[in-house]
Amino acid sequence: MVKRKQTAGQMAKLSDETRKRLKSRTRLVMAGREPTEQFGFVNTPIYRGSTVLSPDVATLKAHKARFTYGTKGTPTTEALEKAWTELAGAAGTVLAPTGLAAVTLALLTALKSGDHLLVTDSAYSPTRHFCDSILARMGVETTYYDPLLGSGIGALMRPNTTAVLVEAPGSQSFEMQDIPAIAEVAHQHGACVIMDNTWATPLFFPPHERGVDLAIEAGTKYLSGHSDLMLGLVSANPVWWRRLRDTFDAFAMCAGPEDVFLALRGLRTMELRLREAEKQGLELARWFQTRPEVKQVLHPALPDAPGHDIWKRDFSGAAGLFSIILHPCKEAAVDAMLDGLELFGMGYSWGGFESLVIPFDCATYRTATTWNPGGPALRFQVGLEDMEDLQADLEAGFARLRAADA
Ligand SMILES: *Cc1c(COP(=O)(O)O)cnc(C)c1O
Repeated sequence: MVKRKQTAGQMAKLSDETRKRLKSRTRLVMAGREPTEQFGFVNTPIYRGSTVLSPDVATLKAHKARFTYGTKGTPTTEALEKAWTELAGAAGTVLAPTGLAAVTLALLTALKSGDHLLVTDSAYSPTRHFCDSILARMGVETTYYDPLLGSGIGALMRPNTTAVLVEAPGSQSFEMQDIPAIAEVAHQHGACVIMDNTWATPLFFPPHERGVDLAIEAGTKYLSGHSDLMLGLVSANPVWWRRLRDTFDAFAMCAGPEDVFLALRGLRTMELRLREAEKQGLELARWFQTRPEVKQVLHPALPDAPGHDIWKRDFSGAAGLFSIILHPCKEAAVDAMLDGLELFGMGYSWGGFESLVIPFDCATYRTATTWNPGGPALRFQVGLEDMEDLQADLEAGFARLRAADA
């Protein structure tokens, strides 16, 4: 009688069937880990390396080995790529050294000289800089469009329009875009739909299921969760995967091994942190709505906020990043509010454990739409601090604002 050896727990390979039906929290725990290949250790370690030795000349000549050279991937990068591919419902993923590098990689995957590109006026502003400088120099023309036009994007399509970049909610301004509608029109015209999905992550917005061809994530934000690394990811659906991978290989724009390792670590707790960010963010947003200094709260998960209907239809959660518009007051009064804050830091980026605030003015870069919210604008990233402490810090800030505005 043959005794079959059972492999215990996570040392067993998950069947494709099991893998497919996993809920996201289980998926985040299981994805991209192969303890059997790491002597049973739970996590894939940091592989550092350029050269990969070939077992024999035939394998070398055939370029058939699983790993061939540092730029082509290591067990560490492969672990994160596989995990993200599963999470995003993609055909494949590549890693880039920063979120902005991921944006440029996605654009260069879809575009060539002579093409026309449509970019939402609410896009992350360094994305605009890339379009207006490098892409313009390469002979790609960019038209910025009103983020709210939905299927009206058809009117802006030209015979040479090859890509449409969407981002929801808009960077700083939080407009919600009707991505399925835009994707449908773009695909009728044969254009590639590229989305910067950093805010929602695939946990709250499954990009490829909603019609996105290339989805960008600045891993610097919630995948890290700790403000201690920079990373970008681009996932592709089956139509665009080969082209994305070829473009990545041509550039060899690789992420650093420590950053990838830390991102894998962050991945395990990403849903817990995002759910907490959502809860804290909504609590603070609702508190702002009760404040006499605040004119409007731009948070798509609030029922009376702009874009809420689209958020409710297409998204399953909200990040802890949103903006507020203050009633008109002196600029010096806003400065006085910000300068004395003890818990809220002032700095770019977000998605970490610490709360942040920055003043912003979209009017300085918008070209297709007017930004005139009727008062000073502040963007908040809500961290994991106690909500009462955060509100006390802001309460004191509002007192300074009122005193300086008198
Ligand atoms: C931060 C950010 C990026 C760029 O990420 P980096 O890692 O800082 O280069 C891109 N898109 C959005 C929406 C971002 O918030």
